[in-house]
Amino acid sequence: MAASHRIAEDHNLILGIQGFSYADLYKPSRLADLLNVFDTTLKVLDAGLFAEYQTYKNTLGKEMAPQAISDLLVRLAPHVGEFVARLFHVEAERANQQSAIRDEVETIFVFRNEIVEKIQARFKDADITRWDIKKIQGDIDLLKRIAFPETATDTDLEHAFCRVGSRLARLSNHYRGLARGKPAEINDADSEVNTLRQRLEADPQSKVAFAAALAKQEPAEFTDVLLEAVQRWCYAALNDPELNKIISGWMSFKTPRKTDIKHLVHHETRQREGFTTWTAPAGEYRRRDGFALTDPRFIERQVLYEVDHCIYCHDRDTDSCSKGMRNKRGGDYKTNALGVTIIGCPLGEKISEMHVVKRQGDNIGALALVTIDNPMCPGTGHRICNDCMRGCIYQKTEPVNIPQIETNVLTDVLFMPYGVEIYSLLTRWNPLNVKRPYALPYNGKNVLVVGMGPAGYTLAHYLINEGFAVAGIDALKIEPLPVELTGSNTRLPRPVRDFRELYEDLDKRLLAGFGGVAEYGITVRWDKNFLKVIYLTLARRNNFRCFGGVRFGGTITIEEAWEMGFDHIAIASGAGKPTIIGLKNNLIRGIRKASDFLMALQLTGAGKNSSLANLQVRLPAGIIGGGLTAIDTTTEVTAYYPVQVEKILHRYTKLVEEQGVETVRAVYDREELEILDEFLSHGRAILSERQRASPGLPAKP
Ligand code: SF4
Repeated sequence: MAASHRIAEDHNLILGIQGFSYADLYKPSRLADLLNVFDTTLKVLDAGLFAEYQTYKNTLGKEMAPQAISDLLVRLAPHVGEFVARLFHVEAERANQQSAIRDEVETIFVFRNEIVEKIQARFKDADITRWDIKKIQGDIDLLKRIAFPETATDTDLEHAFCRVGSRLARLSNHYRGLARGKPAEINDADSEVNTLRQRLEADPQSKVAFAAALAKQEPAEFTDVLLEAVQRWCYAALNDPELNKIISGWMSFKTPRKTDIKHLVHHETRQREGFTTWTAPAGEYRRRDGFALTDPRFIERQVLYEVDHCIYCHDRDTDSCSKGMRNKRGGDYKTNALGVTIIGCPLGEKISEMHVVKRQGDNIGALALVTIDNPMCPGTGHRICNDCMRGCIYQKTEPVNIPQIETNVLTDVLFMPYGVEIYSLLTRWNPLNVKRPYALPYNGKNVLVVGMGPAGYTLAHYLINEGFAVAGIDALKIEPLPVELTGSNTRLPRPVRDFRELYEDLDKRLLAGFGGVAEYGITVRWDKNFLKVIYLTLARRNNFRCFGGVRFGGTITIEEAWEMGFDHIAIASGAGKPTIIGLKNNLIRGIRKASDFLMALQLTGAGKNSSLANLQVRLPAGIIGGGLTAIDTTTEVTAYYPVQVEKILHRYTKLVEEQGVETVRAVYDREELEILDEFLSHGRAILSERQRASPGLPAKP
């Protein structure tokens, strides 16, 4: 047995495709073999689809319409999902995700589409002041409890209610279809209706409340009267303030808001100390304490709302989220009302197709679609980019929140057992990516990539897959990853079973330095754990090495690079020049460039309690500018100041305990003492505020 096999087995990862070891997943020749096994498996399962796939592979889709390619990919993706799940023994987890997502679609979103969306048309601005709201609520409670007793254990109120409504809507549609001569949608509808009837008749209370329904002998009529009770409750819930509280936050009742292009960010104005200021509307404040992740992303149901909101335009080749919006005449890109060119996703990601497969519940298949055009997807999505949203067909109402969906597809896979391994494999082996389905072996050419930001790491990925060896350098320090995780020439990486073992809280996270602007230019609104996934994925590649603290043109010159044997140098270091603003005295004390402040905060980790970084800020701070850097600086200064003064209070208190107040204060001059006392008094004020909020906290810092 080869050494690499032994290591893989020590790591307890035996793959689910016979004849393949974990080590093989890093060997181009074995990746080619794995693709052959995928092909053979597909041929056995669906010979027709296999034939279509072969034609697509052979022609690279040159003679195919975009709609035909999309359709084929959507049908192929579940096969990739199934195959990869088998490879990593996660079939059960994939099946669980599929059944949970399908259940959500069939309850929450069938309810939304079949009932809530039609409710205005159904009641046509009816005046509910004449309605007996108490009876409407009572009837709904009875209907749920007596006719649908299986909902009693459902602690999710929205889900329980939607189960009732969606079931009745389906039964109603079934009978309507039959009346129009359509085939049956539900096989045992009559027996289901009989069960409902018997349950309602058997209970004395519901027998009275639903007497009108029970008087209907036809199953269709009986169903429609029950459905009417649900519809009436929905309309009342939308219009009665008390009932409305129940549905607050329910995705089944969410409707897309109109886009007010002139007021994209709603605000209120407030007079403060002689200035007119903008402020967020009351009730929309999001309190922040420190540097933990500020945006934990949508939950699954919110994501599925977005998936449901999509109308899957790829089958009409109008998926402008991916392809941009073009004028019929001339074919150039359209601009939106703000004059922004609607280019769609710059990568041309298969967004609409991914949404269809996500809706089917197959996250691995959906991720395989994403990684065709966007293999470094942990570095995109929510809080990073939104050209796709701006390109969405919905220009006058809320667009589909594609970045949330994309990131959710990724995280649903990452948090599966071996999710990191699954993502990582899809970057170097992906049957859907017919142009480069598996990484090529080393071709003897070496490339120096300067800059390990998004451009550099993405370029490195593509070059490695084409067979080049890549050395990535960055002027800033890059922390190495443990060799246990990356592997080496003699050692296989340890497979990561649980993404949580790599996951760090952002306010405690070690700044790895990898990722350039994504590391030091983005605040804690974005989950930087994704950077580690990219870093690890690349660091495991045999043909890749990464070096921090190497400045191109200084530490290494262009001549030295050629002498070292590089065949090509790729500059991926962005604009590069430091921003020197042409203002007199702009380097005096108390003045700092916003970008410099942000970079210092991110790079030094000054926001962490454990950090000794010297980054001093006094309030009030005035921030000049209204762009992203200014806004980020505003939020970060506001979050940093309490951390700074609390840290100083804590350290000062400890020092005074150990050395006495006079010794400690003796090392400062008059101005420093003034600043110190200001910080200490603010630190004490925050501490007492914390104690007021949580009386159990210790009185000392
Ligand atoms: S995201 Fe928007 S443009 Fe894209 S497929 Fe869905 S609805 Fe169409």
